[in-house]
Amino acid sequence: MSQDHAEIRDAVARLCEAFPGEYWRGLDRGRRYPEDFVTALQDAGYLSILIPEDYGGSGLGVAAAAAVLGQIHASGCNGAACHAQMYTMATLLKHGSEEQKRTWLPGIASGELRLQAFGVTEPSSGTDTTRITTTAVRDGDDYVVNGQKVFISRTEHSDLMLLLARTTPREEAAKRTDGISVLLVDLREAVGNGLTIKPLATMINHATTELFIDDLRVPVSNLIGEEGRGFRYIMDSMNAERILIAAECVGDARWFVAKASRYASEREVFGRPIGRNQGIQFPIARAHVQAEAAALMVDSAAELFDAGQACGAQANMAKLLASDASWNAGQVCMQTFGGYGLAEEFDIERKFRETQLYQVAPVSTNLILSHVGTHVLGMPRSF
Ligand SMILES: Cc1cc2nc3c(=O)[nH]c(=O)nc-3n(C[C@H](O)[C@H](O)[C@H](O)COP(=O)(O)OP(=O)(O)OC[C@H]3O[C@@H](n4cnc5c(N)ncnc54)[C@H](O)[C@@H]3O)c2cc1C
Repeated sequence: MSQDHAEIRDAVARLCEAFPGEYWRGLDRGRRYPEDFVTALQDAGYLSILIPEDYGGSGLGVAAAAAVLGQIHASGCNGAACHAQMYTMATLLKHGSEEQKRTWLPGIASGELRLQAFGVTEPSSGTDTTRITTTAVRDGDDYVVNGQKVFISRTEHSDLMLLLARTTPREEAAKRTDGISVLLVDLREAVGNGLTIKPLATMINHATTELFIDDLRVPVSNLIGEEGRGFRYIMDSMNAERILIAAECVGDARWFVAKASRYASEREVFGRPIGRNQGIQFPIARAHVQAEAAALMVDSAAELFDAGQACGAQANMAKLLASDASWNAGQVCMQTFGGYGLAEEFDIERKFRETQLYQVAPVSTNLILSHVGTHVLGMPRSF
């Protein structure tokens, strides 16, 4: 793929035209996965954008990936069905052995294999990942894995999953972040052989599941990087995840602002367009300002990431600003549309529900503020 970001945005916008609001509404009602949409993105090469050319991808950076996902959302579509393919793969790319990369990446790049699932969250540990209780115990050439995960998305639509498990108990590890490992689980073999997947209904159509893991055997050859260093590895890929999700939030905010400003200019009440009233016009203008400010922070974080520089602060700030911008733009759009905002056919209530997720996942607003307060500003830690 030799397109620059403007060309990428144009091409993605054209692809998205084939997937209008009606398509997403139908999926939302039936809680179905957007298989056709994901296949179209894969076939156009967008999901393998971060995979180096040597392994069959386009070898572009996070800024290009952010342009793809941002445009998907600005077009009224949703990249959540497949965004993990981009950032989950980064852990394998950065920390996997050459043999693992040769084994898995070409299949992921061609779309033959989907690596869409990332198993971190557990019912009892929540945000405190160092307290996960899923264990992986070495037995010959395998790890034997036991535990439970919650809110693990897309496992039913993925061939592979990155799984976080403790290989050393927290109390025996030198540091609380040590002793956690990343395993690549082949879901095609695991389901029914120690892994049970149970769908978990949520307020959005996100294909999320609970995982029950009972003596699941994973070959030691599927350990990514060194045993016990998994926490660091996922922290690395979390910066990419935050930047890409922030780009999606900016796209959502732009979609809400475009919808609201158009409707405010057309809808006449009391004999004039409602957008002439500053009580309607100014919140939309403010939502636009917030979205564009967040977009600059996303660009800045992506630029640092692609230059191989530290970008933890920028990635976190981008995620916070962008998720707040989409959430606020959603509120404003709902208000602008009055009763029609609640009607399914306008797509706003669905998009509004979807924006709620990014106040919580993949990292909550509170935890970002805690990162900025302690790591950036040097204030005392609360945990
Ligand atoms: C639809 C959906 C899809 C998801 N997909 C995935 C996935 O694919 N893979 C995966 O691993 N996880 C996934 N998650 C999980 C998500 O990342 C977690 O929900 C999130 O990390 C928060 O964990 P928790 O829900 O256990 O909240 P808790 O940790 O119980 O926190 C509850 C609230 O308390 C706040 N809080 C906690 N500790 C502090 C503190 N010290 N200071 C201030 N505030 C604090 C949190 O910010 C939060 O607002 C998904 C969640 C949802 C809803």
